Amino acid sequence: MKNLTWTCHVCDKERPDEKIGVATGILKDFANARINIRFCNDNATCTEVAREHALRGEFIKPTEKSRVKCYACNKPIKLKDLGCMTRQNNKEYWFHNNIVCLIRGKMKGIL
Ligand SMILES: [Zn+2]
Ligand SMILES: [Zn+2]
Repeated sequence: MKNLTWTCHVCDKERPDEKIGVATGILKDFANARINIRFCNDNATCTEVAREHALRGEFIKPTEKSRVKCYACNKPIKLKDLGCMTRQNNKEYWFHNNIVCLIRGKMKGIL
């Protein structure tokens, strides 16, 4: 079995599962939409930045190289259109920052 790795949303490094923590918050301006921010749990800066963003309900933008698709409409998400990302059962779900996609996410039971 391949070792599970995740990318830290703060420093953008790929780390083994046990070195990654997740800070959870509620997305600003959209109650009940969770955001999960990954961070290196052995790096104080990554931890602090991630927790602060989660607390404020702001997501840390992914890098251009991490191409993601919206789980609701299945179209690619540009950085400026990213509304929400959440992690369930080690799978990531991304959504556009528009009400239709976010509501579809809610209806699918993801958000
Ligand atoms: Zn990091
Ligand atoms: Zn969408």
